[in-house]
Amino acid sequence: MSYARTLCVGLVGVTGRVIEVEADISAGLPTLVLTGLPDAALHEARDRVRAAVVNSGQRWPNRRVTVNLLPATMPKQGSGFDLAIACALLTGAGELPADPLRDSVVLGELGLDGAVRSVRGVLPMVATAARAGIARVVVPLGNAREAAIVPGITVRAVDTLRRLIAFAHGAAALLEPPAAEPLAAPAGPDLADVAGQQMGRFAIEVAAAGGHHIALIGPPGAGKTMLAERLPSLLPALDDAAALEVTALHSIAGVLSPDGALVRRPPFQAPHHSASMASLIGGGSGLARPGALSLAHHGVLFLDEAPEMAAATLQALRQPLESGRVVLGRARGTTEYPARVQMVAAANPCPCASPAGDQHCQCSPQARRRYLGKISGPLLDRIDIQVRLDPLSAAALMTAPVTAESSALVAARVAVARAAAARRWAGHGWQTNAQVPGPHLRRPPWRLPARDTSALRTSLDRGALSARGYDRILRMAWTIADLDGRDRPGAADVHESRQLRLGAAR
Ligand SMILES: [Zn+2]
Repeated sequence: MSYARTLCVGLVGVTGRVIEVEADISAGLPTLVLTGLPDAALHEARDRVRAAVVNSGQRWPNRRVTVNLLPATMPKQGSGFDLAIACALLTGAGELPADPLRDSVVLGELGLDGAVRSVRGVLPMVATAARAGIARVVVPLGNAREAAIVPGITVRAVDTLRRLIAFAHGAAALLEPPAAEPLAAPAGPDLADVAGQQMGRFAIEVAAAGGHHIALIGPPGAGKTMLAERLPSLLPALDDAAALEVTALHSIAGVLSPDGALVRRPPFQAPHHSASMASLIGGGSGLARPGALSLAHHGVLFLDEAPEMAAATLQALRQPLESGRVVLGRARGTTEYPARVQMVAAANPCPCASPAGDQHCQCSPQARRRYLGKISGPLLDRIDIQVRLDPLSAAALMTAPVTAESSALVAARVAVARAAAARRWAGHGWQTNAQVPGPHLRRPPWRLPARDTSALRTSLDRGALSARGYDRILRMAWTIADLDGRDRPGAADVHESRQLRLGAAR
């Protein structure tokens, strides 16, 4: 036989496609030609595959070897094609029987010694193979647990090319994926640790229940980071579909834990304010990789000291926050990643960041306005809750309850409130109150009685409240009522909701 083909999978974003790796061995000077839009990594594949084949005790075909990756129009990247290329060319050269691996998808990078190395993105690759009706996938041993998450396809693993060759000759078995270790869901930090910050605790609970973006404005030491880190512990666990999406994104970024467990908790990402555009939004050479924004998909994106971020970076967040996805254009093609996040932005009230808060601040009112103004356009516009946190005084800590409510307790309330909101908006396709457009809440049957909103309307008329701020207060009032188990918000809910917008902007 002088022609053979093996199946593989290529990824663009989270979308995969089954790729045919064809090998043709013909008379001619010994050489290996790769075609089908390979990127630099694929060119290196030529040297890796040759060394791995020879070091696995195989004869290198001393003829002209042409390897073609189909479809040619699909951009391909990465080193995950090595193993499939080695299989195709050994089979084409008559060194391997074709049948044992026919119709299997083969994934893996080769080391020069013939070891099969882990690659990124195995989970979405295997999911692609399963969707395409492929019966079996062979993956690197290091990716086997991750691959085994995907239902409806047989997963087998290899540690070396030598083992795969022995398997094809019927002399060895492929490896079973190691059993997933029973993992206790990593609990993460608990809300019980936050004592004496009643306003902050309430704000974060409302954020969790309504899916609202939240801005925490306060001096250093007010507990902004503590609160933000605990938001995921109040959110419901990811359902199967969401868990697969999140795990696939983490697989592509290469940040999946080696135990290969499905990510079941809402992720938490806290990029530093000096983070590059690529690490925040996504990017990198070749086809773009997901950034923090996509790694926080179905979870929490925490922007600490948000006013310190570059204006261009803040601006780049705008579109993804609106659409729930990131589109990255590159010379070699466009990549798209989901990015539906709940944002927590934290800011000091002014540039001096005096830990004692306002009393010791030397900043002029203009400087303070300018500082928070940096985030007002791109971010604050989209943030329902804007709460001002006072520095924790010793007195507040002394009077704080000895045991504050735990995350589990608050999460139970949040779950009930979320279910109520989801039922209410089911006919509209919204899941949380945060998704409800403002005008909708001002129209019957959702409009609140005039007596309950009179204080708000007075503020609106006096210009002390913007129309957008008005809508946001209504939205949060519904969440507060949901948390309290009532059908509709009343005047007290509207009043409490207003307290959640005393932060930065009107
Ligand atoms: Zn200051």
